[in-house]
Amino acid sequence: MAPTYVYDFAEGGRDMAGLLGGKGANLAEMTRMGLPVPPGFTVTTEACRVFLESGEPPPELDRQIGEHLAALERAAGRRLGQVDDPLLLSVRSGARFSMPGMMDTILDIGLNDLSVLGLGRTPERERFAWDSYRRLVQMFGSTVMGVDSARFEKVLAGIKKQHHAADDTRLDTCDLIRLVETYQDLILEETGEEFPQDPAEQLRRAVLAVFASWNGERARIYRRREHIPDDLGTAVTVQTMVFGNLGPDSGSGVAFTRDPATGRPGVYGDYLQNAQGEDVVAGIRNTVPLQRLEDLDPASYARLRDCMRRLEAHYRDLCDIEFTIERGTLWMLQTRVGKRTSQAAFVIAGQLVDEGVISPREALARVDGEGLARLMFPRFDSSGTGDVLARGLPASPGAAVGAVVFDSAEAVRRSAGGERVVLVRQETTPDDLPGMIAAEAVLTSRGGRTSHAAVVARGMGKVCVCGAEELTVDPDGRLFSTPSATVREGTVVSVDGAEGLVYLGAAPLVDSPVMRYFEDGGQPPGEAAAQVVRDVHRLMGQADANRRMEVRANADTPEDAARARRFGAQGIGLCRTEHMFLGDRRPLVEAMILAHDEAGREAALNALLPLQREDFTGILEAMDGLPVTIRLLDPPLHEFLPDLTELSVRVARHDALGRRPDPRDTELLAAVTRMHETNPMLGLRGVRLGLVVPGLVAMQVRAVAEAVVARKRAGGDPRAEIMVPLVDTVEEFRLVRAEVDRVLERVSAGTGVTLDCPVGTMIELPRAALTAGRIAEDAEFFSFGTNDLTQTTWGFSRDDVEAAFFSAYLDKGVFRTSPFETIDREGVGRLVGIAVTEGRATRPGLKTGVCGEHGGDPASIHFFHETGLDYVSCSPFRVPVARLEAGRAAL
Ligand code: ADP
Ligand code: MG
Ligand code: MG
Repeated sequence: MAPTYVYDFAEGGRDMAGLLGGKGANLAEMTRMGLPVPPGFTVTTEACRVFLESGEPPPELDRQIGEHLAALERAAGRRLGQVDDPLLLSVRSGARFSMPGMMDTILDIGLNDLSVLGLGRTPERERFAWDSYRRLVQMFGSTVMGVDSARFEKVLAGIKKQHHAADDTRLDTCDLIRLVETYQDLILEETGEEFPQDPAEQLRRAVLAVFASWNGERARIYRRREHIPDDLGTAVTVQTMVFGNLGPDSGSGVAFTRDPATGRPGVYGDYLQNAQGEDVVAGIRNTVPLQRLEDLDPASYARLRDCMRRLEAHYRDLCDIEFTIERGTLWMLQTRVGKRTSQAAFVIAGQLVDEGVISPREALARVDGEGLARLMFPRFDSSGTGDVLARGLPASPGAAVGAVVFDSAEAVRRSAGGERVVLVRQETTPDDLPGMIAAEAVLTSRGGRTSHAAVVARGMGKVCVCGAEELTVDPDGRLFSTPSATVREGTVVSVDGAEGLVYLGAAPLVDSPVMRYFEDGGQPPGEAAAQVVRDVHRLMGQADANRRMEVRANADTPEDAARARRFGAQGIGLCRTEHMFLGDRRPLVEAMILAHDEAGREAALNALLPLQREDFTGILEAMDGLPVTIRLLDPPLHEFLPDLTELSVRVARHDALGRRPDPRDTELLAAVTRMHETNPMLGLRGVRLGLVVPGLVAMQVRAVAEAVVARKRAGGDPRAEIMVPLVDTVEEFRLVRAEVDRVLERVSAGTGVTLDCPVGTMIELPRAALTAGRIAEDAEFFSFGTNDLTQTTWGFSRDDVEAAFFSAYLDKGVFRTSPFETIDREGVGRLVGIAVTEGRATRPGLKTGVCGEHGGDPASIHFFHETGLDYVSCSPFRVPVARLEAGRAAL
């Protein structure tokens, strides 16, 4: 039997989003709830996948669509495109994950040169019928037949100009008839083909065009940005048309059950009288706030409010709704759990707990680490800011500073050169997507908080101010003007997405309240604190109670250690000692490297010893009572010497002038040349250094041991752990460990203080992961260095590949995210899993953690939780994010 490729609304439900797309599944859900939904059916994503793979729809599809269409026609008592009273359809795209405006939707299918007369059979419907027809010809011409939509826009703009019509509602029937004719000519001219008059053909081609729009450029860009897989395909919903463009008692709108920008409860949305829905989102005409509908049409408003309440209760979350009113009758056209800003996510989760709608655990699932990170960004200082250049709607919060640009290409060009830009448009369309991704902020002069610009910016966490009506945007002149100023391309402005304000120049920044909360050590906020801070506090508590993994920080200074502790770190997972060898200590390191004999080296090491000891003492004090994992020196020694080229040039210059070069330079040059490595990343570094540079390990361990003694004598509770980097085999580890133990014993004997410092290793080479069972015989803990492990497993050096071919690899779908950003579960992750299992088989209870950059990445944190690691370690500022995500991972 052929698979079912078509489902009636009555046959679907919200749990079928994979098959019916989010839109189709939720239309089915609303139909089942008894809400007023125009009838229709949905073609599955499976049919789309067949089409995308083979270039042909499945053979059974036509028949299945035919059957459902026949049922729709029977119920309506009219046929598709019927001449005297046509049934019209919309053909709508809808993927499993919402991709707002990224694919195509075609309205008014079924109109042709005859049925337009049937639709406009009474004088008061004439204009409406031709308006609908011109919309169809335009949408069909561009999305199905491939005519550049700008060509249609140009024709429309020309006619409006002739009539001095500010917007298209001013055009009369005759204008619209002429517009349809011109459009049809344009299509013939551009494609050599007539606009199809057969409604069945229109429907068939529209369905295939929507399938194909899955692979449209903007859809692909959006998926890459949002990490949505490329092989899901879109469903296609075919639905009976209802008309918001039937006159002033009709209209279309968008509604949110809570404010998607701030999370405040109430009625939020935009409404446009006498319009079809695409006008609202496109921001072509300025909408009115939804509350105004209460005056315009109180009965429909009351019905809408009732639907909103029912949807929120049903979905138990913020819902975002598209609706149309046709002559006083309300129709629901779409709903979904709405996208929201990071602030709104925390505030709404808190509200829903208070309202008893969701449990505190569920609330944790509703927020995420990236959102929290965004709330920690600085804000503009509202007291110190300069003159307000423009006011608009606060569509997506945050503080952005950048140079003004007027089109997507320029935004991309400048940002590729490292410049921060603010994209200014009258309104955005999906074609502006690359520019929106490149920009720090988006500023538009038109459109409400549900316009394309606002929806997409919120989804991406970008700053957005929209509908700044006092702006006149002139993209051709590359400037915008306000009543008081003219601002040219390249001028720096500041955009405050929380207040909806734009300032000239770079406005001063202050810490966000959420950052201040963490800086203050996460104390319970008082009554006066911002709502978002109270909700963050509550959810952090929930996350901490829920998580199994500990969170540590990577820190090399007492200041960083103290901050990490305030942010909730439970220790230091990685204290790098190389940073302590830089700056004014460099000469000492140089002396150690260049020493001619034992005595010279010892003298240099002895000079370094007290400095290292002081460093460790400070860090152990800041982390008193908590573990501090200190890594022995890791990078190749030549990193501490001058650059080879620079030095060669200096020596050569002296030579050329016939002068004797500085003997120190000559000696340095010899050393640098001797130590030069073709692949330093795979050269003399890590444990290898410890084994060939006499005295280095001993000095570092002695510094640690003496710091521990000093802290103990001061009444502290130091918990140092010593970590050996870049181990390949247990033999290396044994040799170093023997020396470490010798030094610890010596210091202990000399001071009479017992030293209890666990000695462990990093697992950052594939061989170490594969022989972890052996290494665990001697190593007391493992810390996964997933940066090096990723480089060595994949066989690429990060510095070389990221610029060279990563973007091509992302484009070609070799991977969806860089393996340096999110751990590669299949390869690198598998090695981690093997090492944990085999290490613990040898040494039950072996403590394991991760200290690579993945330790602060949400998706990776979930993987580490599943793999059974004891902790993740990340930069101090990421600690709150890691706490939250570790809590979510354990849900
Ligand atoms: P998107 O996914 O880009 O939001 P939609 O499929 O939701 O695209 O269509 C865009 C708009 O077209 C909708 O918001 C709605 O106003 C209008 N529309 C779609 N189907 C119908 C319909 N059956 N009747 C009236 N308007 C419709
Ligand atoms: Mg929609
Ligand atoms: Mg490493």
